[in-house]
Amino acid sequence: MSFHFELLQGGAAEPRLGQLSTPHGKVQTPAFMPVATRGMMRGIAPDRMRPLGTEMMLSNAFHLFARPGVDKVRALGGIHGMLAWDGPVLTDSGGFQVFSLGALDQVRRDGVRVDHPVYGGAVHWTPELAFETQAGLGPDVAMVLDVCPDRPTDRATVQAAVDRTLQWAQVQRKLHQARGGLQSGQALFGIVQGGVFADLRRRCSEHLVDLAFDGYAVGGVSVGEGHAAMMQGVETSTPFLPTGQIRYLMGVGTPLDLVESIARGIDLFDCVFPTRAGRFATALTRTGRLHLLNACHAEDPRPIEEGCACPACTSAVPRGALRAGFKAKELNPPILVSMHNLYFIHQLMARVRQAIASGSFAEVRAEISRHYPPAAGKAEAFKNGARPGSR
Ligand SMILES: [Zn+2]
Repeated sequence: MSFHFELLQGGAAEPRLGQLSTPHGKVQTPAFMPVATRGMMRGIAPDRMRPLGTEMMLSNAFHLFARPGVDKVRALGGIHGMLAWDGPVLTDSGGFQVFSLGALDQVRRDGVRVDHPVYGGAVHWTPELAFETQAGLGPDVAMVLDVCPDRPTDRATVQAAVDRTLQWAQVQRKLHQARGGLQSGQALFGIVQGGVFADLRRRCSEHLVDLAFDGYAVGGVSVGEGHAAMMQGVETSTPFLPTGQIRYLMGVGTPLDLVESIARGIDLFDCVFPTRAGRFATALTRTGRLHLLNACHAEDPRPIEEGCACPACTSAVPRGALRAGFKAKELNPPILVSMHNLYFIHQLMARVRQAIASGSFAEVRAEISRHYPPAAGKAEAFKNGARPGSR
């Protein structure tokens, strides 16, 4: 099976239904990808992923380049072998991670100098190296190296990031073509930057579309700018992307951000939020966040959510036991709540897909905004885990 996206319902800037076909299987969209940054989920065994609802996973090329290295990953059977996962995989180029390491002032024409995250010393991370690394890792979808500004409201910074992103996109598009394009077994997505500036988003989108990528991502929206600015970044990008191709919003994964981005025409997401929140004792439920460390749960015999079919809730682990376990630093509570949260997000996406098909998306949207209201500005983004380093 080769790479192909089929839009089943919807237009450029409204809720859409689609099916992504990849060499490793199909994905129903809108879809959420759990994040295995270094080629391994934190605390969740590979055979748990499909039962939780996962159809596609994400890993990070820069981190795998740093350790264990491309040759070692290849020896393990590529990124699919490393993950012990036979479904579709997308790798991020590492642009976001590089820039969250404070490398924005180290951008040069041909790449960016960044500290090696494992061994120290400098790495010259270039568009060519990001592309070749991903060609070696072998995901179904590779991402271009982009420049992700940490201040999406500073026009001069954002403009420079867009210019460099487009220049590097051209380099990587040529490399992809030289490798046979989709015939290589790997798709390559372009990334729209432009911060909160509508004209820069539009310009970046249109130039990327001229280069004809296999799919498009909206980047630079999860750097602590808050929900409203994030939605502004989405709204000013999706109308200029080809209706029939897949759109991926990078680093977004709170219930509100997911549903509101789907309302604006996004098909694919990834975020560490569900698993990170789980590790910090916050569970996602149909009626909002549940903070398991709160004293009110100490003697609570109920599972996280009645009727939930995740491993934590079907095992009927009491909230009080999870609370006690978190306090005692037991291994199981972070894992159980991470699994519950991933299951919740996958279930939410399944509900959204059903709702789009049946014309009742507005009801799910209203329910989520009622139970997951946006807080103000940066504090909210930070609390959600949607801060630099979380893509
Ligand atoms: Zn559950």
